[in-house]
Amino acid sequence: MSEEIKNKFAPKKFVKNPIKGTKCTLMISSAKGGVGKSTFAVNLAFALQNIGKKVGILDADIYGPSLPKILGLNEKPKNEGGKFLVPLEKFGAQCISIGFLVDENTPMIWRGPMVISAIKTLTQKVLWKDLDFLIIDMPPGTGDSQLTFAQEIKVDGAIIISTPQDLALADVKRGIQMFDKTGIKILGLVDNMSFFKGDDGKIYNIFGEGGVQKTANEFKKEFLGKIPLNNKLRESADQGQPLTHKDPKNEISLIFENIAKKINSSFNKD
Ligand code: ADP
Repeated sequence: MSEEIKNKFAPKKFVKNPIKGTKCTLMISSAKGGVGKSTFAVNLAFALQNIGKKVGILDADIYGPSLPKILGLNEKPKNEGGKFLVPLEKFGAQCISIGFLVDENTPMIWRGPMVISAIKTLTQKVLWKDLDFLIIDMPPGTGDSQLTFAQEIKVDGAIIISTPQDLALADVKRGIQMFDKTGIKILGLVDNMSFFKGDDGKIYNIFGEGGVQKTANEFKKEFLGKIPLNNKLRESADQGQPLTHKDPKNEISLIFENIAKKINSSFNKD
């Protein structure tokens, strides 16, 4: 085969821009909305902080930013030199979200190019400082903006969140393939709202059982853990005080700590 033909069919190499100011960039992704991606992203960030890491959170969910609510933050970030945004700081974490820049009640009726331009600003024009980990709360799905993001931004790994029912898992498979195609290492899959433990100690598998682990096995990806459906996790997010920050020794926080340790050791950072 001639060189010309070989090049034509070689996998496309994307030019990926790094996010400055952080040692490690992690995408938290879900194929569907409402499976707990933002809740996971923020609680993982504070679990990493609890094991001594300096963390930042980038809320890239342009159409449905959750960070202002989950962290109880309602300020405008400062602008430096008319060009850069200074992240807000909450509970020792640096944070940025499109939700800090637009009114909470304004619907984001944006076309693709505007979303892409917002993502570029959030990834290239924010002055992150000395972070060990930047956690990116991605928009759900595998559409244009996710693909552009995956192709243009240099990230060190992705975690996929899902609930265990079949409907969510079909999309997870698409998500895995998108990351594999764009050369982003999948650090593992997480089963959220995995089960509910009643006051009587009985376990209820509300959304089915074992599907996320099965999908991880099928695609040879690591299974990072199960997070139960838990009232405290929901309440703390609604109150703007993520559980892993508010109560680091809670049994749910310890599940996050375990996942944080796995992530940290996969990057050999101590
Ligand atoms: P996504 O980012 O995937 O759209 P969210 O993180 O916003 O999802 O979660 C959707 C809702 O479910 C929120 O009200 C959140 O507090 C709640 N939630 C998420 N995970 C859990 C869980 N494990 N137990 C209880 N509530 C949860």
